[in-house]
Amino acid sequence: MITFNKPYLTGNETEYIKQAVLNLKISGDGLFTKKCHQFFESKYNFKKVLLTTSCTDALEMAAILLDIKPGDEVIAPSYTFVSTVNAFVLRGAEIVFVDSDKRNPNLDIDKIEALITTKTKVIVPVHYAGIACDMDKLMALANKHNLFVVEDAAQAIDSFYKGKPLGSIGHLAAFSFHETKNIISGEGGMLVINSDELVSRAEIIREKGTNRSAFFRGEVDKYGWVDIGSSFLPSDIIAAFLFSQIENLDDIQKKRLSIWHNYYNGLKTLETQNKVALPVIPDFASNNAHMFYLVCNSLKERTELIAHLKNEGIHAVFHYLSLNKSPYYLSSLNNAPAENLENSDRYTDTLIRLPLYYELSTEDQSKVISSILSFYSK
Ligand SMILES: *Cc1c(COP(=O)(O)O)cnc(C)c1O
Repeated sequence: MITFNKPYLTGNETEYIKQAVLNLKISGDGLFTKKCHQFFESKYNFKKVLLTTSCTDALEMAAILLDIKPGDEVIAPSYTFVSTVNAFVLRGAEIVFVDSDKRNPNLDIDKIEALITTKTKVIVPVHYAGIACDMDKLMALANKHNLFVVEDAAQAIDSFYKGKPLGSIGHLAAFSFHETKNIISGEGGMLVINSDELVSRAEIIREKGTNRSAFFRGEVDKYGWVDIGSSFLPSDIIAAFLFSQIENLDDIQKKRLSIWHNYYNGLKTLETQNKVALPVIPDFASNNAHMFYLVCNSLKERTELIAHLKNEGIHAVFHYLSLNKSPYYLSSLNNAPAENLENSDRYTDTLIRLPLYYELSTEDQSKVISSILSFYSK
């Protein structure tokens, strides 16, 4: 069986975990956490980085940090992972879903302005497959209406918009190191804070509502309860694993990109013949090879393709069901009829993801490509 994903161990994970354990500073913000923070801040020009236990937690921190309250509205794509919006729902916000773009699953920026009301507080763009949303356009819109922007950059490590790192453009950004992402720590994530005025409160929210971080730096002589918060920081053991991954980031990216381009070149003829659509990467966006996907012509075709690949021992998957049609969203609105978001629904029915991981061999990848070509030649 060619699996859909295989977590890649770069080699030093267990050694660094051992060092973290022997350091006897195995709770949060130990040596490896500091090394990870320094790495991300210097490599990507992020103002401030805080490791969290997941991207979901980083998004929840963002919602607390922006004082989201019942009655506030948050604009987000419908074609995304639940955490993008659930983090804001937990604070009582109403989610206003926007459709995806016609060319790729990122939100359609031209459809946002019509959804903005006096209650709107935040826009949450998701850089789907690590491909940038048009951030100049989005930030201009947010500034015009005085809104915050939280980038869901879960899939977007080491990816760029007009040369600027994704995660460095919005007021806040959330990344994931879940084992399905490019660099991993099992579960893990980070919050990026790009606004100076949000930095000190972010540290407090992450440390159970206390000013313990300032205390450890010697800035205050005692620490106490100063705000709401929770325990969002990971153990240094998790950071030790992640540090081994980031030391190998360039190698991982190079390998993933070469696999991505093999798929693109191997399947291009299908697009020329109008049989499937391949990923669209706008000129302003880089490619971090987080994902390779195809867009089929119908749900029936996708279902048959997945079954065909399974028969050949290949595990391909689909994901994301338009959130505006989810059982929870509909029940929370007393069964208001779901709006059709044309492109979100189309990706829900027709997008298929192919195996893409560091150790995918050339032979296995050729088999995936030829199986897809044979399906479409029938
Ligand atoms: C993976 C992912 C998340 C959640 O990340 P976790 O670290 O598992 O919490 C959120 N949003 C998007 C778009 C994702 O792909």
